[in-house]
Amino acid sequence: MQTDWREKLVNRFLKYVSIYTTSEAFVEQFPSTDRQWDLARYIENELKEIGLEDVSLDENGYVFGYVPSTVDKEVPTIGFIAHMDTSPDYSGENVQPIIWENYDGGDLQLNEEMILSPKEFPEMLRYKGQTLITTDGTTLLGADDKAGLAEIVTAAEYLIAHPEIKHGRIAVGFTPDEEVGRGADFFNVENFGAEWAYTMDGSEVGELEYENFNAASGIVTIKGKSVHPGYAKDKMINAASIACEFAAALPSDEVPELTDDREGFFHLADIQGDVSEAKMVYIIRDHDMDQYEARKALFVQIAEDIQSRFDHPVITAEVTDQYFNMIEKVQEKFASVEIAEQALKDCGITPNIKPIRGGTDGARLSFMGLPCPNIFAGGHNFHGPYEYVPVESMEKAVEVIVRIAELTAEK
Ligand SMILES: [Zn+2]
Repeated sequence: MQTDWREKLVNRFLKYVSIYTTSEAFVEQFPSTDRQWDLARYIENELKEIGLEDVSLDENGYVFGYVPSTVDKEVPTIGFIAHMDTSPDYSGENVQPIIWENYDGGDLQLNEEMILSPKEFPEMLRYKGQTLITTDGTTLLGADDKAGLAEIVTAAEYLIAHPEIKHGRIAVGFTPDEEVGRGADFFNVENFGAEWAYTMDGSEVGELEYENFNAASGIVTIKGKSVHPGYAKDKMINAASIACEFAAALPSDEVPELTDDREGFFHLADIQGDVSEAKMVYIIRDHDMDQYEARKALFVQIAEDIQSRFDHPVITAEVTDQYFNMIEKVQEKFASVEIAEQALKDCGITPNIKPIRGGTDGARLSFMGLPCPNIFAGGHNFHGPYEYVPVESMEKAVEVIVRIAELTAEK
């Protein structure tokens, strides 16, 4: 990338991370924090200045804008999406980034006490000779997902500055509250008007993701009967013991700490109980829809089997779907993945395609009618003070966005 574009990208990123946009969980208002409007308004103005058309900031804090098509023929409108908030897991206030040029592969002293070291984070060594941007150890960096924001806006500016690049209409969308699981809540898919889109919200360079978990919560409620242990024979129903029995009846090796890749699990997230009552909260996860259904059925069956020993209600298990694997929707517009994969290769990047062991806003958008694979934004160690991003990875992301725009018009 030419130095002036690299500079634009870096300055833009530094500007975005200087704006405090931490979101908050369990808040009714949307966006969850008023400070997210500061960045939304900033970007709205910026998009207008750059020359995007139909720039809007809606009443829920979503910023949309469009790079006009440069071709006469019909080309599907595609979109690029990033989120403006940062995680409430760690402070995002007064971020003071440090720029390390020509990284030598050694320890980076973030402040008097804190070291970002390849001994702990060996993937840093891949970026030897590159420019890393880190925190000063007191906040997160916010590369998740302000790297994505900076990449998309820079790519949009680049496309507008280079009308000789042939592409269709490109939509860009910036969302609040992704980190608290609400980024898709008020996303107006119809207004956005894209056939498909990409969230620029992955981690290291090369990542391309279009599979995620099917996800349910499972809640087990047990009502016991407390009787003095000395007189309990045939009378006591120990809710805590029944909770243990339920937990033991689930496959013991299908848990997050023993599974990987496309293996699903039951995860006991919370348990509380005594003799008279007990409650367990599980999450149930599987990439495969049939296996996911089987897991939910097993969960309910175990409770029914235990219940069958009693003549009054003792145990109930309730499962509730949370989100689904986007692959089902992405497959309907699989060109989105093929084009992205080709774009990575064309930019000299080896695609690193792997299933997400979690969910994304893109998964929810996919089921709202906007298939939405996820592409790397370049950062590492999200949500904490060791977060960092190589500038070269961000540059690659800009190139990938531009290439995707081109390839979509060629198809
Ligand atoms: Zn993110």
